[in-house]
Amino acid sequence: MAHYGGGASHLAAIYGSEQDKVNCSFYLKIGACRHGERCSRKHIKPQYSQTLVLLNAYQNPAHNPGTTSNPHLRPKDAPPLDPNPQSKLNEDETREYFDKFYEDVYCELVKYGNLLEMHVCDNVGDHLIGNVYARFEWEDQAGLAVDELNKRWYAGRPLYAELSPVTDFREACCRQNDMGSCDRGGFCNFMHLRYPSKDLLKELQREQRVERRLNPDPRDEERKKELEMFGADFMGAPGGGGGGGGGGGGPDRGGYSSDRRY
Ligand SMILES: [Zn+2]
Ligand SMILES: [Zn+2]
Repeated sequence: MAHYGGGASHLAAIYGSEQDKVNCSFYLKIGACRHGERCSRKHIKPQYSQTLVLLNAYQNPAHNPGTTSNPHLRPKDAPPLDPNPQSKLNEDETREYFDKFYEDVYCELVKYGNLLEMHVCDNVGDHLIGNVYARFEWEDQAGLAVDELNKRWYAGRPLYAELSPVTDFREACCRQNDMGSCDRGGFCNFMHLRYPSKDLLKELQREQRVERRLNPDPRDEERKKELEMFGADFMGAPGGGGGGGGGGGGPDRGGYSSDRRY
């Protein structure tokens, strides 16, 4: 029987990496790939995931004012979007506009479960423009959110949600952009995120914690018991290494990301 050195363990090691000739590493890491359906590698949509994506949900007001930046609604012969658009709004107005969007979507998402993080892409390429990613504590919460959000509209447009394979947003984000120097601008194929005001995010997270204390998920109690029995290491942060500050999780919170940038 032919047995090539490595075998299954070799396949596991290259899964989703550049050497993986079957699975698309961009789709696995970033949840979106510029080749879309025509990609030569597989985009396997997860059946279960803690993460969902709302495709093209955020409309940056700086793009083609008066028309849409949604690739599905933009006419085929429309000129490509400016990767570094100049907004007619001033800085404060732009921030306010974005904060309002962030708050609206966040408040909608927390209805479906414990929202651990929510990120909005400011990229311009069709596969990433306006994408909103949300990671929940439990897979069934993300599943419920997908089902419900697909029945909803926002700002006069239907929402489109699906489960996403993204688990680690550090991996998905463009490092150059985080350092303020990505040459590809909005057309970059890694996430360029737009962040809400710090105060707003803190307030939203605080409200969610209060709400959870009032209406706890029964699984929180089970987890607490497990922690007591097996010690804090038992529930190590998922995705390994993503935790940033090791001491991040408080006594009642597994990997809650209140103080993490991502
Ligand atoms: Zn691909
Ligand atoms: Zn970039």
